[in-house]
Amino acid sequence: MQLTQSEQAFAEAKQYIPGGVNSPVRSFRGVGGTPPFIARAEGSRIVDIDGNSYIDYVGSWGPMIVGHAHPQVIQAIVEAAARGTSYGAPTLLETELAKLVTKLVPSIEMVRMVNSGTEATMSALRLARAYTKRSKIVKYAGCYHGHHDSLLVKAGSGATTFGVPDSPGVPDSITQTTLTVKYNDPEELEAVFARQGEQIAAVIIEPVAGNMGLVLPQEGYLQKVRDITAHYGALLIFDEVMTGFRVALGGAQAYYGIKPDITCLGKIIGGGLPVAAYGGRRDIMEMVAPAGSVYQAGTLSGNPLAMTAGIATLRLISEDPDFYPKISQKTAALCAGLEAEAKKQGFDKLQFHRIGAMFGLFFSDKPVYDYDSAKQSDVQAFNTYFHAMLAQGIYLAPSQFEAAFMSAAHSDEDIKATIAASGEAFMQAA
Ligand code: PLP
Repeated sequence: MQLTQSEQAFAEAKQYIPGGVNSPVRSFRGVGGTPPFIARAEGSRIVDIDGNSYIDYVGSWGPMIVGHAHPQVIQAIVEAAARGTSYGAPTLLETELAKLVTKLVPSIEMVRMVNSGTEATMSALRLARAYTKRSKIVKYAGCYHGHHDSLLVKAGSGATTFGVPDSPGVPDSITQTTLTVKYNDPEELEAVFARQGEQIAAVIIEPVAGNMGLVLPQEGYLQKVRDITAHYGALLIFDEVMTGFRVALGGAQAYYGIKPDITCLGKIIGGGLPVAAYGGRRDIMEMVAPAGSVYQAGTLSGNPLAMTAGIATLRLISEDPDFYPKISQKTAALCAGLEAEAKKQGFDKLQFHRIGAMFGLFFSDKPVYDYDSAKQSDVQAFNTYFHAMLAQGIYLAPSQFEAAFMSAAHSDEDIKATIAASGEAFMQAA
C-alpha cells in the first residue's frame, strides 16, 4: 500500500526530531496513527500536505479564536515584518499590548511579556516566592502549567496522555516544595493550609481546568480558594493561559467574579505567535527586575511581530460587543447537536462540558469534576470516536484529556457538518 505524504513526512521527521514532533501530543501517540502534516490554514479549516481539509477544533491548542489567517492579523504581521523582526530594545507596541491587557483584565495592573505559558507560570512562582518569602506551592492534580520542574507534578495534558504526570529528570528536592490537591475539593485545600499554611507562597490553579479534558469549577469553589489564600497570606495565581480571552473577554476571573493576585496569560494574547504574559497587582509586579530584584528576562520577549499579532487579535475580540455572545452560542449549538446525535445512537456514556468558546466531552457515564474522575473515562471509546471524526474531516485534539476550541470563523455549516459526522463516530465508539 502506498504511504500518504503525511506518513512519509512523519517517518522522516522521526529521524531528526524526538518522536517526530516539537510538542508531544501532536504525535498522535495517545490515539494511534499518523498525524496529518499541515500545509496551510484559513478560517475554521486546516489543510494537510495530502490535500485533505479539516474543520479544526484545536486552533493551535487555543490561540486561534478569530480563525486561522485572519486578514487583519496577517496584514498587521506582514507590515510589522517589513520593519524588522526583532530589535531587543523597547518599542511602542509593548506598551500598547500591556495597556490593552490591563484594560481587559482589570486585576492586572502591570504585566510582563514572555514567550510561552511555561515561562509565564515559572516566573509567576518565582515572584510569589519572593513576595511572600515562602517556598511551597500548591497545585492541582490534572492541571498543566507548562513543563518546568516545579509544576511537572501530577500534570495534565500530554503528561497525562503519555502516562508521565511526574516526569523523570525532575529533582525530588524541587517537587518536595510542590503540594498537590484535588480539583473541586475545598476540604483538602483547607487541610493542607491548616498544616502548612505559613510555608505556602501561592496556589496556582487553572480557574477552569482544560488540561484533564474540560473540568469546570463547582459553584463557590474558586471563592473558597480565594478566601483560604487570603486568610493565610498566600498569593492566588490564576493560570489563564488557556481560559484568558477564551471563556469570556476578561477570562475566567471575569466570568466567576474572582480577583487573583497574579494572572498568567498565553495563547490568544499572541494571536498565533509566541507570546505569553504574567501580571497582577502593582506592588507585586514592581518586584520584577529591573524595577525590583526578582530576575526574569528574554531575548525575544515582547518582539514586534508577536506584539503586533496580539494587538490585532485583542482588538478584534474586544471591539465587537457581540463577539462573545455569538461564539458562546455557537459552542452551545454544537454541544447540543452532539448530545442529540449521541442520544439518537443510543450512546449515553458521555459528559458534555462547555463554557464560553471551549468545550469537551468525556466518554464516561459518571460526573467528572477532578483528575481521578476524568481518568475514569473510556479512552478506547474516545480514540475510536476521534479517528472516526478525523476520517470525516473533523480535527479534534488527539487525546481524551484535552479541551476543544471554537473560533469566530466556524460557520453554521461547519457546525452542522460536525454534528452529522458525530452520528457515525458515536456509532463506532459504542
Ligand atoms: N498553562 C496552561 C493552562 C496551558 O494550557 C499551557 C499549555 O497548554 C501552559 C500553561 C503552557 O504553555 P506553553 O505551552 O506556551 O508553554
